Amino acid sequence: MSEKTIFKRIIDHEIPADIVYEDDRVIAFRDNNPQAPTHVLVIPKKEIASLDALTDEDQALLGHLWLAIRRIAGDLGLTGGYRVTVNCGPDAGQSVDHLHFHLLAGRKMSWPPG
Ligand code: AMP
Repeated sequence: MSEKTIFKRIIDHEIPADIVYEDDRVIAFRDNNPQAPTHVLVIPKKEIASLDALTDEDQALLGHLWLAIRRIAGDLGLTGGYRVTVNCGPDAGQSVDHLHFHLLAGRKMSWPPG
């Protein structure tokens, strides 16, 4: 069996994380190397390696993830706006093989992203 990712260990509550939201399908926790005053990772509990690994079966889960992101943004009071980013694959800098949405806020964001 392949080794658990660090995010699977957080889902299983084996290692500590600063969890800001959790339900039966989603967990969200603060990034431990934040790139903005608010930097939360929103992830499905289902083990999906990346955006590329999504299938038609995940359609409802994806809708649920986006609605969770909106809810978390509301709960955290991100009234000034926020950015949601998914890094997919090596060129985008994906470093953990478990689908995750970066929710970033609290500073002006530049465009194009680096
Ligand atoms: P990415 O580079 O898009 O794959 O994003 C992975 C993110 O996970 C990075 O921003 C890391 O700082 C973050 N990260 C890695 N390990 C942990 C952890 N144990 N707790 C919180 N965030 C983590």
